[in-house]
Amino acid sequence: RSKDTGKNKFTMFCRNMEEELSRNAQILEILRSAISSKEVYVKYQPQYNISTNTITGFEALMRINNSKLGNISPAEFIPIAEESGLIIGLGEWILREACTFNKSLLDQGFTPCIVSVNISTVQINHPDFVSMVDSVLKETNLPPQYLELEITESTLVSSLIDATILLSNLQNLGVHVSLDDFGTGYSSLNYLTTIPINTLKIDKSFVDNISKNDKDACIADAIIQLAHSIQVDVIAEGVEHEEQLIVLKKKNCDIVQGYIFSKPLLPSALINLLKNT
Ligand code: C2E
Ligand code: MG
Ligand code: MG
Ligand code: MG
Repeated sequence: RSKDTGKNKFTMFCRNMEEELSRNAQILEILRSAISSKEVYVKYQPQYNISTNTITGFEALMRINNSKLGNISPAEFIPIAEESGLIIGLGEWILREACTFNKSLLDQGFTPCIVSVNISTVQINHPDFVSMVDSVLKETNLPPQYLELEITESTLVSSLIDATILLSNLQNLGVHVSLDDFGTGYSSLNYLTTIPINTLKIDKSFVDNISKNDKDACIADAIIQLAHSIQVDVIAEGVEHEEQLIVLKKKNCDIVQGYIFSKPLLPSALINLLKNT
C-alpha cells in the first residue's frame, strides 16, 4: 500500500508541478502582451484623512483580466513580472496611467489628491529609475507633489543601491515617498529617522488585531508617535471594522485605507465618489 501511495503521490506532485509551470508560463505570456491587449488596467483605492473625513489620496493597484484565466491576483502575477523583468514596462505603464488620471482630476477641478503608485525592487535597482519618473511627470504635466511612490521596507533594506541617495534623488524631483507594509521587514525603527520619507503605511497584519490585541495596539501606537515626531504622516492599511477605526482615531493615525471606506475602484467609480463627497 505504502509503495503505491508513494508512487501516486509522486505522480501527483509532478502533475501539480506541471500545472503550476504551465500556469506560470501562461501568466508570463499574458503579461508580455498585457499592455497591447488591454488586459492590464488600474483600480484606485481611496485614502481618507480621518480627522477631516475627506479623501486625500488614492493608491493605484494593478489588475489583470484575461479571457482564459479570468482575474489574476497581483500576489500571483507581480512576482512573475519581477522575475521576468516585465515589471519594468508594466511599472512605467501604471505610473503613466496614474499620473495622467490624477492630472485629469486636477484639470476637472477636484480638490487635489495624491496618487500613490507601488514600486518594485526590480524597478528601484534599474539605473534609469529616477529619470524615468522625471520624464513621466514632465510628459503628463502632473505637479510632482501629487505623486507618491510606495516603496516597501524590505526593498530599501535589500536594495543594491544606496537607499538614502535614491530617496533624496526622488525628493529632489518633488515627489512624495511612502514606506509600504511597514513593520513586516527587518529594519530597525531607528532606520526611520535616517531616511527621507513623507509617509509610513502600517501593514494590515498589525491593523487586523488592533482592537483585540494589546500588543498590536502598542506597536501601532509606537509607530504613529515615532512617525509624528519626525513629521511623517501615517496611513493604516486594510482597515475593515469600526472598532479598528476607533482605536486608530484615538491614537491619532492620520489616514485610513481599507474596505471600511472603499474597495479599489475603477476610475469612473472613483470620480463618482469624489463628486458625492
Ligand atoms: P499593497 O501595496 O500593500 O496594497 C494593499 C493591498 O491590500 C491591495 O491588494 C488592496 O486591495 C488590499 N486591501 C486594501 N484594503 C483592504 C482591506 O480592508 N481588506 C483586505 N483584505 N485587503 C485590503 P492587491 O490589490 O491585491 O495588491 C496586493 C499587492 O500587490 C500590493 O500590496 C502590492 O505589493 C502589489 N501590487 C499591486 N499593484 C502593484 C503595482 O502596480 N506595482 C507593484 N510593484 N506592485 C503592485
Ligand atoms: Mg502599496
Ligand atoms: Mg501595503
Ligand atoms: Mg502588501
